[in-house]
Amino acid sequence: MADLPSYISAEIESKWQKRWEADGLYHADIDAARTKHYALTMLPYPSGDLHIGHWYAMTPSDARARFMRMRGFNVMFPIGFDSFGLPAENAAIKNQVHPKKWTYANIERMRLQLRSMGAMWDWRREAISSDPEYYRWSQWFFTQLRQHGLAYRKMSPVDWCPNCNTTLAREQVWGEDRHCERCGTPVIKKDLEQWFFRTTQYAEELLDFSHMDWPERVQLLQTNWIGKSEGAEVHFMVDNESLSVLESRLTVFTTRPDTLWGATFMVLAPEHPLVEKIVSSQQKAVVDAYVQQATRQTDIQREAADKEKTGVFSGAYAINPVNDERIPIWIADYVLMTYGTGAIMAVPAHDQRDFEFARKYGLEVRVVVQPSDKPPLYGATMVESVPANGTMVNSGPLTGTPGDRAFDVSIDYVEERQLGKRTINYRLRDWLISRQRYWGAPIPIVYCPEHGAVDVPDEQLPVLLPDDVEWLPTGQSPLKLHPSWKNTTCPVCGKPAERETDTMDTFMCSSWYHLRYLSPHYASGPFDPEQYAYWMPVDTYTGGIEHATMHLIYTRFFHKAFHDIGVVQGPEPMSQLRNQGIVLAEDSEKMSKSRGNVVSPDDLVSRYGADTVRAYLMFFARWDMGGPWNSSGIEGPARWVRRAWNLFTEPATRGRPSAEVLRTLRRKVHQTLKNITRDFEQFEFNTVVSSLMELWNEMSKARDLGAGGTAEWDEAVDIYLRMMAPVTPHIAEELWAYLGKPYSVHNQSWPQVDEAAVTEEQVILVVQVNGKVRDRITVPAEITEDAAKEAALASPAVQKFLGDKPPRKVIVVPGKLVNIVG
Ligand SMILES: [Zn+2]
Ligand SMILES: [Zn+2]
Repeated sequence: MADLPSYISAEIESKWQKRWEADGLYHADIDAARTKHYALTMLPYPSGDLHIGHWYAMTPSDARARFMRMRGFNVMFPIGFDSFGLPAENAAIKNQVHPKKWTYANIERMRLQLRSMGAMWDWRREAISSDPEYYRWSQWFFTQLRQHGLAYRKMSPVDWCPNCNTTLAREQVWGEDRHCERCGTPVIKKDLEQWFFRTTQYAEELLDFSHMDWPERVQLLQTNWIGKSEGAEVHFMVDNESLSVLESRLTVFTTRPDTLWGATFMVLAPEHPLVEKIVSSQQKAVVDAYVQQATRQTDIQREAADKEKTGVFSGAYAINPVNDERIPIWIADYVLMTYGTGAIMAVPAHDQRDFEFARKYGLEVRVVVQPSDKPPLYGATMVESVPANGTMVNSGPLTGTPGDRAFDVSIDYVEERQLGKRTINYRLRDWLISRQRYWGAPIPIVYCPEHGAVDVPDEQLPVLLPDDVEWLPTGQSPLKLHPSWKNTTCPVCGKPAERETDTMDTFMCSSWYHLRYLSPHYASGPFDPEQYAYWMPVDTYTGGIEHATMHLIYTRFFHKAFHDIGVVQGPEPMSQLRNQGIVLAEDSEKMSKSRGNVVSPDDLVSRYGADTVRAYLMFFARWDMGGPWNSSGIEGPARWVRRAWNLFTEPATRGRPSAEVLRTLRRKVHQTLKNITRDFEQFEFNTVVSSLMELWNEMSKARDLGAGGTAEWDEAVDIYLRMMAPVTPHIAEELWAYLGKPYSVHNQSWPQVDEAAVTEEQVILVVQVNGKVRDRITVPAEITEDAAKEAALASPAVQKFLGDKPPRKVIVVPGKLVNIVG
């Protein structure tokens, strides 16, 4: 026997990668005759090392895109780099290299790593967000937003990361302790004049998920993030004659207007501007001291649920507008300026924080809602607050209003008397996009002493980011320290003016990269309209769920805003979204360099080959779940790949297989095909790989039984390689070529399931008892002898003749009859 070719992954993989590239096999061009499929995977930061998480996100996405291609879709699967931003800049600072040099060297390296995946990227469409030809359009989009009233500049207290030396958007402040999403440092507040996008204007539209197939979980995260609450704004008045009517108005937002009669005091945040105006002379010293210590605490310290409530009386009173009661105004740090108006009406009977505060300081607790399932409540004896669900009591003219109508009736009451109005509040805030860092797209604004903030005219874009900058962080924008760049002339009057020295949040760049892929070098607009018309919207978007409340909200806002401006069409940018889980380290912890538990895909590829790494990443866990890495687990897929190699390279000598062997083989092949087709449709990659492994077993058996070389065998091999192609594209291509089939397996269509072959064939067995026909039973044709016996004995007709006695003997003639001797 001739020597079999041995499986050397490195040779095969680099050979085919070069060939595919040279042939432009994965180039996606407009083809009106075919249905397009835009498969998008989230683009990486050029951090310098593609990690296993990238592979986990991208290679199953690639397999899915390949599957769609084989199903006849014209598939575009692009890649690029989100190359502006803090990670690049921080690393550059650490290594003392220019961020640009560092970034582009990393891009160079990551391109090679990305190529090693054997993914079907269309590299002609590569887009790099730090290229001037890209950020020219990021700047253009900024100008458009500003010209349409959706970008504005405002002085406000903003979240500042003292480690990253920059402001952050609300979405980039994470967790209860309010830490920086990038570096984990707790953020502090700073008053700064900053640029914002009006995301809040789209809050209601962003809550509409009806035009998309996105995971429930992401919809829920976004819904909670947007945080819509319905209620009323009610105006209380400070009882202080030295204040004007407007000054004395204290507006509170409440989601429970039906508890207005239960407000027995008000609380202002220590930072509330009214505090110093209303404080009485007797209380001034106490209040000043309290305000001092409160501002030294972080929001999280102040808001902690288990923290003992503290506060001081201001000496002032407010008038409750619904009953004209005079109630005390307290200053307490459990109320924050960042939520609502910085002032609350305290309803201690029905709010636990207010309750604790009232008990501590001896303030009245008044029940205004009586739950039907509870004995009558008395404020004086309650030990905790009671949720406000029930009939209104102690509520003046509204007493007796049933719980289901209390909300609306109360708001009507307030509105009729002009004490306030129905309001919808959102937790969502406008998107703060100014960053006091160097490595980003300059904000295209010039400040003129006479004309104020002036847009840089479109024809002067891009505003180039200068290379010669002191980019080490000083706490202010590095571009501020570059006089020749900063100083310019006003586009309106031509007199000396200064450039905006902040750069844009990089989430701005990634909000529209899916559009730049359409035509990355197009110079007459952000994208070529012809490409847009054919490819958009994105059909399948894949990536991490951690972007649910950042990128995935920003990009939807961006699309909706530019839909209204008239730049893009359709309700949503991405029709379908699927999220992968996280690959944890073997110790079930997050992979991190400091823990030393990082799995390097490069090492795995050189040891096992990209095909095996791809197969393992699809196989080891449910894709949407992820799980801990298991270094010995990869041996399974490695064995499978080698065995597949051996099975298809060994010459197939024909034996004398029975018809049953061939029928079984066909059935298994088509059953597997049917399952794998469904699994690919549903992004269930782990069962794709396990089904291929099982089918290998069945095919090996059939071959041992002489099936090799038959038409059924050839069909099985052909279908097997096509099914392998999306998972392990290199070895599938190599085997396809080895068997003399026309290049390329990746241009083949996905096989059709033969439903007739899938269904198990049925036969009728004659059942005799002591030689006489007593029944006829229908069974699968390939039924085993034991199963046939069992089925015959289970027949009621047979049992009638046999009675309780076990049969003396049972004879089976396969496919024909069962004879029972009683
Ligand atoms: Zn930070
Ligand atoms: Zn001017």
